[in-house]
Amino acid sequence: MKTIGLIGGMSWESTVEYYRMINEEVKHRLGGLHSAKCLLYSVDFEEIERCQSEGNWQKAGLILGDVAQRLEKGGADFIVICTNTMHKVAEVIQEKISIPILHIADATVKQIRKKSIRTVGLLGTKYTMEQDFYKSRLKSNGIQVLVPGEFDREMINQVIYEELCVGTIKESSKKQYQKVIQHLVDNGAEGIILGCTEIGLLVKPEDSEVPLFDTALIHAVEAVNKALG
Ligand code: GLU
Repeated sequence: MKTIGLIGGMSWESTVEYYRMINEEVKHRLGGLHSAKCLLYSVDFEEIERCQSEGNWQKAGLILGDVAQRLEKGGADFIVICTNTMHKVAEVIQEKISIPILHIADATVKQIRKKSIRTVGLLGTKYTMEQDFYKSRLKSNGIQVLVPGEFDREMINQVIYEELCVGTIKESSKKQYQKVIQHLVDNGAEGIILGCTEIGLLVKPEDSEVPLFDTALIHAVEAVNKALG
């Protein structure tokens, strides 16, 4: 079994889920007392969020690059960045290490392809929904990406940072998300990417009429696939 190097803490609410899902998947596959070999470096999210809101991605890349180096030195065989947004600096991180990064969008593309879906709606932070680093990875794989309108993007983003990342789960926010999902479906989305690793804490498969691609779950299972070869 390979050792998974997790860069977590963004936020720790979703990193806990990664740790749980990875171990559950290993247990499910190998049985007995088997559990995942992994290293977790959990950052201080306040520091990272400040870099995001100031647009200082270079600093964020330096911090996470340093973390990845520590994980490599500690014996990790590959890196899992437990957030969609910070894949914005995935290439910068990769330059700092000689072990591979398991990209969250690539893992998600695989699952979308399995369902032969061509058009997806994307929910995530404003950075993920508005900038190109994530969407381009989907588009270059032949997947059309729809994002909510400006007002809805603001709401989605606010719920992520002000509720989900601090452990607040509200029924009213779930209803708002469901409305946005329905709107994307009405506009042609055949599936919805939960492109923020906390959204799966709020919205569950039964809350949507189309398939949901929970990136935290997909990424965690793909990490186990890679660890078990
Ligand atoms: N975990 C979230 C994501 O998947 C948002 C937190 C962050 O900005 O990293 O994008």
